[in-house]
Amino acid sequence: MAEHPLQRLADGTVKQVSPLTGTTVWTVPGRAHRPLPGAPERRQPVDPSQADMLCAFCAGRYRETPPEKSRLVLDPHPRVIAHVPAAELDATVAEVRRIPNLFEILSVDYWRANHGFEVPRAVRDRAEAYLADPAGAEHVQGVLRSRALAAGRDPDLASTAPEDRQAAIDLFAGSHDVVVARRHLVDGAAFDDELAGSGTLTPDEHHRFVAMTVDAIRDLYQTRPAALYVAAFQNWLRPAGASFDHLHKQVVAIDEHGPQVEHERVRLRDEPDLYQTQVIDVAVEHGLVVAQNEHAVAIAGVGHRYPAFEVYSTAREHLPWEHDEAQVRGVSDLLHALHAVGGVHTPSNEEWHHRPPDVAEPMPWRIVLKWRVSTLAGFEGDTKVYVNTIDPYTLRDRAVARLGELRAAGLVADLRIGDEAGTPRLGYAG
Ligand SMILES: [Zn+2]
Repeated sequence: MAEHPLQRLADGTVKQVSPLTGTTVWTVPGRAHRPLPGAPERRQPVDPSQADMLCAFCAGRYRETPPEKSRLVLDPHPRVIAHVPAAELDATVAEVRRIPNLFEILSVDYWRANHGFEVPRAVRDRAEAYLADPAGAEHVQGVLRSRALAAGRDPDLASTAPEDRQAAIDLFAGSHDVVVARRHLVDGAAFDDELAGSGTLTPDEHHRFVAMTVDAIRDLYQTRPAALYVAAFQNWLRPAGASFDHLHKQVVAIDEHGPQVEHERVRLRDEPDLYQTQVIDVAVEHGLVVAQNEHAVAIAGVGHRYPAFEVYSTAREHLPWEHDEAQVRGVSDLLHALHAVGGVHTPSNEEWHHRPPDVAEPMPWRIVLKWRVSTLAGFEGDTKVYVNTIDPYTLRDRAVARLGELRAAGLVADLRIGDEAGTPRLGYAG
């Protein structure tokens, strides 16, 4: 544990050491006040008839992605429809859809070869039923053809061979999902840069998007017994790793906890209140609390390579799906507000953390939101000292100022901002 997680030197340089990862980060004076990325210089008008056809995640192109696992529909009343048949894909509009990722990090073959995974009977039956409908067979074949093309293989070979039958069935059995929000652009957009990001959703819409993601995590643990962790993240815009400028999150089952969880787990044996004393209390001491509501707290994070906010659930529960609706809403509202602060043109990564279910040490549900506004370069590779252009104090002040405006404009849910927040206590340690 570093003596000083956060120090401001005489010239104004801020040196940080992450309390959880040990990452060393410096911010030198004079670079922190650059504006966030604005709209691109060139913008193209949008033909309203094409607004739902802009990318493969758009509502007019449902058949370009693998068969859905589930969709949330609002009209005439909110409900989740599981496994929409091909013939009914256009019968409703999906507010949020959960689909398999066509380019999985860990394929079904990986789980089969390394963990003896077998496609469960129910999934196989569902796949067979989907493929028995000619519309379904055509959908699946089209998807397999585009994957073959993307991999540089001959799409005409993706046909009726036995291994292709298996590939078709495997499309239904994946454990790397994409949770896709309805809009590509905001409603009524006239130009192609009027993107619908997390921060342009209403707090209600954002909550539904988050809740569908929480449910996808729960479901992947349940359906992939060898999964030791389910990673959830959001890459927004290409500089942050997104393939499409269409709002989506990814949920990926993996067969390890990952080194960071193991590192924190060892420390938690001696310091079960690690996240309170080393993260939240340090944030309070340095005036880095950004916002708080009844169920969550947001701070400007210390020791990140990019400007980063951290949202912690203050609930006793650890696992996201053990949080009740109001608690999930609390986390969602703060995350939504922070996205609104960054604006739709700021590339960002959202990284979710939770206690792996087979780990006994207490860990809170938390989400890190990073602004990808700088590029790591040779200096960082050489020294392992990372230069972050915005220090946590400045990040907090910018967020607090902007949140005040957003709240006044009614664009974010009710929250206590900056000094209005009390002294946050995390509930995870019991
Ligand atoms: Zn789209």
